[in-house]
Amino acid sequence: MSGENRFAFFQGKIVPIEEAKVSIMTSAFNYGSAVFEGIRGYWNQEQGQLYLFRLREHMERLWQNCRLLLIELPYTVDQLCQAAVELVRREEFRTDIYLRPLAYKSSQVVGVRLHDLESDCAMFAVPFGDYLDRPSGARVMVSSWRRLDDNTIPPRGKITGAYVNAALAKTEAHLHGFDDALMLCQDGHVSEASTANLFLVRQGRLITPPVTADILEGITRATVLQLAEDLDIETQERPIDRSELYVADELFMCGTAVGLVAIVEVDGRPIGAGTPGPTFTRLNTLFQAIVRGKEPRYRAWCTPVYPAAAPSSVG
Ligand code: PMP
Repeated sequence: MSGENRFAFFQGKIVPIEEAKVSIMTSAFNYGSAVFEGIRGYWNQEQGQLYLFRLREHMERLWQNCRLLLIELPYTVDQLCQAAVELVRREEFRTDIYLRPLAYKSSQVVGVRLHDLESDCAMFAVPFGDYLDRPSGARVMVSSWRRLDDNTIPPRGKITGAYVNAALAKTEAHLHGFDDALMLCQDGHVSEASTANLFLVRQGRLITPPVTADILEGITRATVLQLAEDLDIETQERPIDRSELYVADELFMCGTAVGLVAIVEVDGRPIGAGTPGPTFTRLNTLFQAIVRGKEPRYRAWCTPVYPAAAPSSVG
């Protein structure tokens, strides 16, 4: 999926991707002191349009997370959104994409700290298909790695260094033949998947761990909660026991990269009927239409990258 992008937003301007390089002395490279985002662009063939999904919410989260690491960005949220649209437009993508903004400690000095360091922001975008191609549902395991906790490295921060935790869990799952890992908090309750939030369905109610369960406060999670409300599906944010995973009627994960993916097996145990369930299917069908700008009611979530085609003149 790399090698198909030509530009980057780097040090305040759009440059050829080959010029977007940082030194090995960069603080963020040495200590993982950066925050990042992942934003999806969905191509709508009929409209000839590429929509960035919930762009502003992602940039707001990046901005908020910069505060955690004392990163002072020289850009406003509006400027970040504008730079993102400009970058993707320059790429002239006519396919689904993934946009990666990074805000990082850019000083080239030795020393573990967050204070008295310069910061910068960079972005690149790449064509991106299905992250987890599992239309019939994913098979997951409960990881032996515990989720980082808020007093270790705050998971809500989307901090680059913290993703070693997710990578350990994901690779353990892969080495054991599973598609992904579910992670437990330090207290043993369910937190989330390696890079996605988790929902379960019990007796028609949609249940997800609260924001205090060491999760990333996912934008897709917030989207699902909103759609559930709009579809009159009851929701509950509360701690979830590991054993509830095994007895759930349905289970699914959601995130920018994965979208919505049903989980049909946990630790070798089938979930529900072992196929994507009806609540998941209802939510996912609506979600898929929304992200491609096909649901007028939710168009405010979709930022068009290209100018709308001029109406063709009659005559
Ligand atoms: N949890 C983790 C750990 C993640 O990395 C992600 C992906 N950003 C998510 C949840 C899903 O968040 P979002 O829907 O905002 O992409």
